[in-house]
Amino acid sequence: MWYNPAHIMHAKVIPINPTLSQLNALTSKIDASNGPGACWEWRGTLVKRYGVLQVDKKRHKAHRLALVWLGGERDSSNGVLSVLHSCDNPKCCNPEHLRFGTHQENMVEMKRRNRSNFVIALNTPSRVKNIPRGDEHYSRAHPEKLARGDDHGMRKNPSRASRGSHRYNAVLTEDLVRDIKQRITKGEKRSEIALALGVKPRSITNVLSGGWKHVPWPEGSPLPLKESNE
Ligand SMILES: [Zn+2]
Repeated sequence: MWYNPAHIMHAKVIPINPTLSQLNALTSKIDASNGPGACWEWRGTLVKRYGVLQVDKKRHKAHRLALVWLGGERDSSNGVLSVLHSCDNPKCCNPEHLRFGTHQENMVEMKRRNRSNFVIALNTPSRVKNIPRGDEHYSRAHPEKLARGDDHGMRKNPSRASRGSHRYNAVLTEDLVRDIKQRITKGEKRSEIALALGVKPRSITNVLSGGWKHVPWPEGSPLPLKESNE
């Protein structure tokens, strides 16, 4: 049996004995006007196509609450089990259309119904096996289709590339880099600069070795050593 650990960690156990006002909060947003056998659609807030309701300061999925509170099912799985829709209508809160199932079952069902567009980016072993490798890999089979050199997005739309402090893993900022480049130009040592600015020496190396091109070197700087052809 395979469970998504994140799924368990964020699992919220539904209170077993709802108060009358909690029950009302749920039922007042469920549209059961089409009869007992029809889909009872949630008319409240939706998150990722599923109804949600706040109970005791915790946000629960509406259909999950419906299965437990209206369908009388007991969630004894400590939140591990998913609630599956037999009707494939995420908004539906008719307990007749709901049942507990494993997360895995849910994934299998989703895939079968082709609504897995927002899940499963997992490299399951079979997927790993099916990745074309070597000469069959896309980059070798169709090298002409890859954006290289001047066709690459970084050159075509340089303004759209994420640079400097906008990079997700950026340590330095443009101001720091300006300072670093000035100090390097004045002849300060890497370790001195790192100490003075409270950054790691390797961040200085990063600037020295050609990173942060968009922050210009000051006049009279010996760097960059290799003139780029831009
Ligand atoms: Zn339904």
